[in-house]
Amino acid sequence: MRDFSTNHHWLSINTATVRRQLGREWPLPQILDACAARGIRAVSPWRDQVAAAGLEATARQLQALGLQLSGYCRGGLFTYTDASSQGAMRDDNLRALDEACTLGAPCLVLVVGSLPGALAGRPAHRDIALARAQVAEGIAWLLDEARKRRMPLAVEPLHPMYAADRACVNTMSQALDLCDALDPSRSGAIGIAVDAYHVWWDPQLRSQIERAGRERLLAFHVCDWLVPTTDLLEDRGMMGDGIIDLKRLRGWVEAAGYAGFSEVEIFSRDNWWQRAGGDVLDTCVERHRRCV
Ligand code: ZN
Repeated sequence: MRDFSTNHHWLSINTATVRRQLGREWPLPQILDACAARGIRAVSPWRDQVAAAGLEATARQLQALGLQLSGYCRGGLFTYTDASSQGAMRDDNLRALDEACTLGAPCLVLVVGSLPGALAGRPAHRDIALARAQVAEGIAWLLDEARKRRMPLAVEPLHPMYAADRACVNTMSQALDLCDALDPSRSGAIGIAVDAYHVWWDPQLRSQIERAGRERLLAFHVCDWLVPTTDLLEDRGMMGDGIIDLKRLRGWVEAAGYAGFSEVEIFSRDNWWQRAGGDVLDTCVERHRRCV
């Protein structure tokens, strides 16, 4: 297992971690400058942040700063209610793929979606099996497009508390079944994003990481699970402040062949988003060395 204690060579910052500091949006160009100034080598930006800063301008800034991407957030949300919403979903995913290519991302991260309309509080139906079927169909379709562009897809299983609205793929086993069905040769075209926050509780965590192996482990996201957790989405903890054994988890992921970045991804409305962004980045560096 790599020694992270003396440097932050393998730290990446998911830019949602510092997107909304002290009640104001921290613009992506400033986030990128602040990361580079701290010797952080990689980031994973969100599409809305890139859109606000401009796609081409972001690509140029990344290159000028020598920043890599550890992923691009995100595609997916594959479920639909009619041909028109299916068409809009496909168009949007193609744009996400093309943006990922322009930015030189190593993979496009997929949050697959679940009951249509549920995110807005108006689920169109109660058929999660239908949602899962549409997700499988959507990933199969997108994989063809992704292969043409040589852009790997990283399916991110989400914690079951999001099964109604954000993702009906909730375990690594489920995600890997989808990968195996679509890419039995393990070509590297599709794999998973292992996010500690979503999978730490899974009794099959270690065995599914071993099953995934190097070809399927495309991204590794870290934060911590706070006890108690006060919000389902925006109360993620800083590494070391919760109950996830991150070092053990990283040991398993690396034993399976993963050698990429540890991407810090924290949504924290009442704590870390209430601090100056530079202070949050400094804390990420320190905790990455001590706790990941
Ligand atoms: Zn994640």
